[in-house]
Amino acid sequence: MNYKRSSALFAQAETFIPGGVNSPVRAFKAVGGTPIFVKEAKGAYLYDEDGNTLIDYINSWGPMILGHAYEPVVNAVIEKAKKGTSFGMPTEIETQIAELAVSMVPNIDKIRFVNSGTEACMSAIRLARGFTQKEKIVKFAGCYHGHSDSFLIQAGSGAITFGSPNSPGVTKGTAKDTLLATYNNIDSVKSLIEANKNEIACIIIEPVAGNMGCIPPKEGFLQALRTLCDAHNILLIFDEVMTGFRLAKGGAQELYNVKADIVCFGKVIGGGLPVGAFAARSEIMNHLAPLGPVYQAGTLSGNPLAMAAGLAMLEALNNDSEIFTRLAEKTEYLHKGFAEVLNNNRINHKINRVGSMISIHFTEENVVDFETSANGNNETFKKFFHGMLQEGIYIAPSAFETWFITDALTYEDLDVTIQAVNKVASKL
Ligand SMILES: *Cc1c(COP(=O)(O)O)cnc(C)c1O
Repeated sequence: MNYKRSSALFAQAETFIPGGVNSPVRAFKAVGGTPIFVKEAKGAYLYDEDGNTLIDYINSWGPMILGHAYEPVVNAVIEKAKKGTSFGMPTEIETQIAELAVSMVPNIDKIRFVNSGTEACMSAIRLARGFTQKEKIVKFAGCYHGHSDSFLIQAGSGAITFGSPNSPGVTKGTAKDTLLATYNNIDSVKSLIEANKNEIACIIIEPVAGNMGCIPPKEGFLQALRTLCDAHNILLIFDEVMTGFRLAKGGAQELYNVKADIVCFGKVIGGGLPVGAFAARSEIMNHLAPLGPVYQAGTLSGNPLAMAAGLAMLEALNNDSEIFTRLAEKTEYLHKGFAEVLNNNRINHKINRVGSMISIHFTEENVVDFETSANGNNETFKKFFHGMLQEGIYIAPSAFETWFITDALTYEDLDVTIQAVNKVASKL
């Protein structure tokens, strides 16, 4: 396959857009080469500007859980657009999607819609701080909660007490209020709580990590967080931007039967349009303006096109009692297939999987946190990525990303993918 036109388009894009992309993860910095420009997509397939057809395992980084250009979503957006695309006034469809989301997700009474996952997480921690009247937050190294300042923090030299900015532009002042814990390590959380008595407003976590590969929570880990939060008057925030409406109707809260205080959404909830949301029980949500003192707003929040897309998507998921089982079965099929061909080719690897999220790590040790994920062999990953691309399989251009399985994938597509892994593995 050649990607000549994509390369030319990328060169043009670089002239006017920093790095040629509007979000860095789209660039091929971690794997080398130039990004592929997509022309259109339908179901499980991408059609690029060079005329190649690719099987897609990124799916817009999660939203397209039913495949690209899913007709009920597309039609809902077209019909809405004809009636005006933004009003800055309340519309009935906002209540309709809110009611449906609240009925699908456990432990939430009210939900507010925003325009991205970043906004959802940023607003959720403000709400937690306003509600608890405490200022510090705990996040886990390797978890991604969008690009707002409070989350662009890495473990500093004094990691046990506070973090340091991992991007210029994030102030030391902001960094000192974000504490870094280790995923799947409850003792790291306990020490932070001990060292910051009565100062921690919330603990925010991806209940299944998806931004350092796919990393499932260890048995009992989420429950232990819940217990700690209860004991210390700390709010537990599940960032379900990736897992929400993907792992189950009620997301990770339902799958693991652990109750969060605030839940963040994005990706699937917008059906491919720019949507995020955060939700909690009334007692917490009523702290938000205009009811309460915590300010949060948005000109395009609850935008009718976005709500139409999201509502059509949630309805489709809500009306299909088999969808999450079907997705998990397809993902398990891939897992078994990958494991077999990688073992046959004697490639050191670990595969992590939960529901329709899966990742392959080129390493011998179990991948349970950021460090073990970062220890994977990136040179092998690069070869694997470009090899797969030559076979017409589009996976994320970074070893730290999860593959997203969609309902549009057929078992034939999965077999083609397993065969591609076999072919590429034989040359690794
Ligand atoms: C994608 C993602 C975000 C950020 O969402 P955006 O819509 O890209 O701002 C936040 N948290 C998690 C877990 C995500 O996967």
